[in-house]
Amino acid sequence: MYDLIVIGAGSGGVRCARMSAQKGAKVAIIEERFYGGTCVNVGCVPKKLFVYASHYGEDFHDARRFGWDVRSSQFDWPTLVENKNAEISRLNGIYENLLKNSGVTIYNGRGRLTSPNTVEVNGETLQTKNILIATGSYPFKPDFPGSEHALISDHMFYLDSLPSHAVVVGGGYIAVEFAGILAGLGVSTHLIYRGASLLKRFDVDVRNHLAEELERKGIQVHLSNNIESMEKLSEKEFRLKLSSGDELSTGLVLYATGRKPLTHDLGLEKAGVTLGPEGEVQVNEHYQSNIPNIYAVGDVINRMQLTPVALAEGMYVSSQLFGGEPVPVDYERIPTAVFSQPSVATVGPTEEDARVQYPDLKVFRSSFRALKNTVSGNQERTMMKLMVDGATDKVVAAHMVGPEAAEIVQGIAVAIRAGATKQIFDTTIGIHPSSAEEFVTMREPV
Ligand code: NDP
Repeated sequence: MYDLIVIGAGSGGVRCARMSAQKGAKVAIIEERFYGGTCVNVGCVPKKLFVYASHYGEDFHDARRFGWDVRSSQFDWPTLVENKNAEISRLNGIYENLLKNSGVTIYNGRGRLTSPNTVEVNGETLQTKNILIATGSYPFKPDFPGSEHALISDHMFYLDSLPSHAVVVGGGYIAVEFAGILAGLGVSTHLIYRGASLLKRFDVDVRNHLAEELERKGIQVHLSNNIESMEKLSEKEFRLKLSSGDELSTGLVLYATGRKPLTHDLGLEKAGVTLGPEGEVQVNEHYQSNIPNIYAVGDVINRMQLTPVALAEGMYVSSQLFGGEPVPVDYERIPTAVFSQPSVATVGPTEEDARVQYPDLKVFRSSFRALKNTVSGNQERTMMKLMVDGATDKVVAAHMVGPEAAEIVQGIAVAIRAGATKQIFDTTIGIHPSSAEEFVTMREPV
């Protein structure tokens, strides 16, 4: 009899399994695909490696006015994929070892619940006191004529070759990130979004600033538009009919239109677990489903599809079940980044939401060309924004679009969580010369 069976060895599942085993619980984890889940294999990690790869083209160009003679800079896609694959295999091994070394029993296969206390894997039935569903999510692609030819983000990590032209559909994290990767690697890139403004859940200044920068990078953005049909002309050529009436010819179409919780064929109905409208496991504030000994964390609960959130949720469940102080996740102030080019990072509400929450809101904003670009000639601009509750002087949000936004905003997020006031920001000495110092030198509200 296990104390805990975890289904899914992604970020949340592995963290909860390891922590629980380290506390002395008898734990098994079941995984049918790969250790580390989406983030390690077809998400955050390889995506960020691709972002690094795609930035070199611009860096080589910028280097010239700094005196570098950069004659030839040819990019070879198979080299990138091969080296990325080697790194991912290394990480898979680390995850497997972490589990083994903490005493977790690993089952490779598909786990299915047969009751609230039994899980079947590879024909074997395991008994358990508790179950954690941590199966994550899968990319959603809408149905339309020819949609079978469109790719999802999983495929992008294993393409044999890069096309000369590509179309990305969607206006969220993955669409904006992959449009930047493709364009940076020299692919003529169109980004098609059905709405009026990309990254619609982000602050208005972030959205406006990023839109200008994406165009500057040569990404052709089509707003309020969609693909109506996709026709395959050859292995590497597709013709698209758009809702605007236009036609486009392209070598690849990537759909980045959200991710859905992965709950089918897990036997959840046999155990009586209630699912929500998107197929998510519905949980209470303790990540407990309607069946008290069945828990769920991460993308499968469809709250915030972010690795660090899944980790925090996994740790909460482990502490709750096997000892320790469960630390509730503060969903209000989750810092997050979009690795677009330039990157976006943010913590706290958008201006629109902050105006509702804080009637006496003060907004500080700065837009500038970073020092490096004055010599390189690169026209890219950086935008930073702070919002302050006038009633308490507390900084309630920070938004940034610019190089290393994630590295900078992570620190600002700590200050905001600690309740820092604008006066504390103002009396903090800047690090000069840096872009980050702008966050402590914004004096006049806009
Ligand atoms: P998002 O939810 O961010 O964006 C989905 C986009 O697809 C939206 O613009 C949405 O439009 C559009 N869309 C949805 N359905 C359709 C449709 N039928 N036709 C056309 N467009 C459609 O999802 P992503 O796929 O980009 O990413 C999934 C999640 O993964 C993110 O929400 C994020 O939590 C996580 N992620 C995090 C990253 C990071 O931390 N850097 C990187 C990548 C992913 P509309 O706005 O109109 O609904």
